Amino acid sequence: MTGTTSTLINPATEEVLRTVEQLDVPAVDDAIARAAAAQKRWARLAPAERAAGLRAFAATVDAHVDELAALEVANSGHPIGNAEWEAGHVRDVLQFYSGSPERLSGQQIPVAGGLDVTFHEPLGVVGVITPWNFPMTIAAWGFAPALAAGNAVVLKPAEWTPLTTIRLGELAVEAGLDPDLFQVLPGRGSVVGERFVTHEGVRKIVFTGSTEVGTRVMAGAAAQVKRVTLELGGKSANIVFDDCDLERAAATAPYGVFDNAGQDCCARSRILVQRNVYDRFMELLEPAVKGVVVGDPTERGTEMGPLVAKPHWESVSSYVPDDAPVAFRGSAPSGAGYWFAPTVLTPARTDRTVTDEIFGPVVTVLPFDDEADAIALANDTPYGLSGSIWSENLSRAMRVSRAVEAGNLSVNSHSSVRYTTPFGGFKQSGLGRELGPDAPLHFTETKNVFFAISEST
Ligand code: NAD
Repeated sequence: MTGTTSTLINPATEEVLRTVEQLDVPAVDDAIARAAAAQKRWARLAPAERAAGLRAFAATVDAHVDELAALEVANSGHPIGNAEWEAGHVRDVLQFYSGSPERLSGQQIPVAGGLDVTFHEPLGVVGVITPWNFPMTIAAWGFAPALAAGNAVVLKPAEWTPLTTIRLGELAVEAGLDPDLFQVLPGRGSVVGERFVTHEGVRKIVFTGSTEVGTRVMAGAAAQVKRVTLELGGKSANIVFDDCDLERAAATAPYGVFDNAGQDCCARSRILVQRNVYDRFMELLEPAVKGVVVGDPTERGTEMGPLVAKPHWESVSSYVPDDAPVAFRGSAPSGAGYWFAPTVLTPARTDRTVTDEIFGPVVTVLPFDDEADAIALANDTPYGLSGSIWSENLSRAMRVSRAVEAGNLSVNSHSSVRYTTPFGGFKQSGLGRELGPDAPLHFTETKNVFFAISEST
C-alpha cells in the first residue's frame, strides 16, 4: 500500500474508468522477496505438476475470455473482436508453454573419465515490463515461458492500460498457482520498473517498450550483468513490387498499418511502391483506407478504435499539421474520445514522418525504382522489427527477405506473430527473441556438471 493512485480513462468516451494503486519501492521489494521464496517452491515441484499448474491457468483464462476482452475494450479502446482474439491468445500461449516443463531437458555429452551432463536451471525471479499497446498478449509472452522454465515473475504493466494484466494476476491465483509466484505490480516506470532493474533479486528483465527506455533499462541492467530481453520500437516497410497481386497488396495494406490504430510495433508504417505501379497502387489504396471502419470499440464490425490516451493523441497529431502532404484520409468519429482518422502521407524520403515511429494510424507512401533501391530504403532506419514483401516472383521474394534487416518478415501477407515461432528485432528494435519453442530456455542458465567415474577397485 502506498496511498498513491492513477486514474484510468476510457479512451473512447473520456469517462473515468477507475483508479489503480501505484506501488512504491518498499512494496516492490516486499513482492520480490515473496516471489523469490515462491520460486523455490515452484522449482521443487515435479515437472508434471508445473505443467498442470500452467494448464489450469490456461483453462481459467479461457473461462474469462469475454470478461478480459470487455476490460481491454474499456481500458485500451481495442475493438471487441481484436480484444477477444488477444484474450484467447493468452490462453493459447499458456497452453503451448504448459508442455515445456516436461520437455526442458539438458544433454549428456561424451567425455573421457566420467559423465558430463547439462541442466537448464531457472534464473529465479524474472521482471517483466510491458507497454500499453497490447497489454495482455505481451505480458503472456513474458510470463508464460518464464513460469514454464521454473521461475517466478513480477510484472509491471504500463500506466495507461494495467487492467487486463492485473486481472490475469488474479486469474493465476484462482487457477491455484501460488499467489506469490506471479505478481502484477502496477506503478510508474521510474519507480517499479527501475526497481526491477536495480534489485539484485531480479535476475532477468524482459522489457517491451520504446527504444529510448529500453536502452536505459539495458544500461542499468549492465551494472549487475543482469540478463535482458528487449522488444523495442519499429518502423517497418511494406514493399510492393510491380509483379505482385496489386489489388490484394492495396486491399490489405490498411490492415498492415492501422490494426490497433497503428499502435503496433510491427505496423508497416512505410509503404514502398515500385514507381511504375505507384499511381495505380494509390488509386487502389484510397478506397481501402476510406473503408476502414473507425468507431465505437464495443460494436462488432468496428475495425479501428481510438488512440489510447490524450498525450498520445497529441503526439500523433503533431505529425499531421495543416500543411502535411496528405494524400487521403479515412474517417473518424467526432466528439468525446481520442479519435484519429487513418491518414496516408506522401512526404519526402527524409521527412520525420518517414523516420520516426509515430505509433498511430499514419502511413507514408514512397516510390522506389528497383530492387536495390527498395532494399536500401527499407533498411534506412535504426529499427528492424518487421515488414512485408509483395511479389509473385519467388526468387525476388527470397532475395529481398534475406536482404531486409528485420526479425519478422512476411511475403504476400502482414502476419507477424505466431506463438510457435520466434519473435524479435534486429538493430535498435531489440535484443533476444520471445515466443517459439525455445523461449523457456531464455529463462534458464545452462549448468554443466562433470561426474568423475573412478576406476573399479
Ligand atoms: P515505454 O518505453 O514508454 O514504456 C514501456 C514500459 O516501460 C512501461 O511499463 C513503462 O512504465 C516502463 N518504464 C518507463 N520508464 C522506465 C524506466 N526508467 N525503467 C523501467 N521501466 C520503465 O513504451 P510505451 O509507450 O508503453 O509503448 C510503446 C513502445 O513500445 C513503442 O515504441 C513500441 O514500438 C514498443 N513496442 C515494442 C514491441 C515489440 O515486441 N518489439 C511490442 C509492443 C510495443
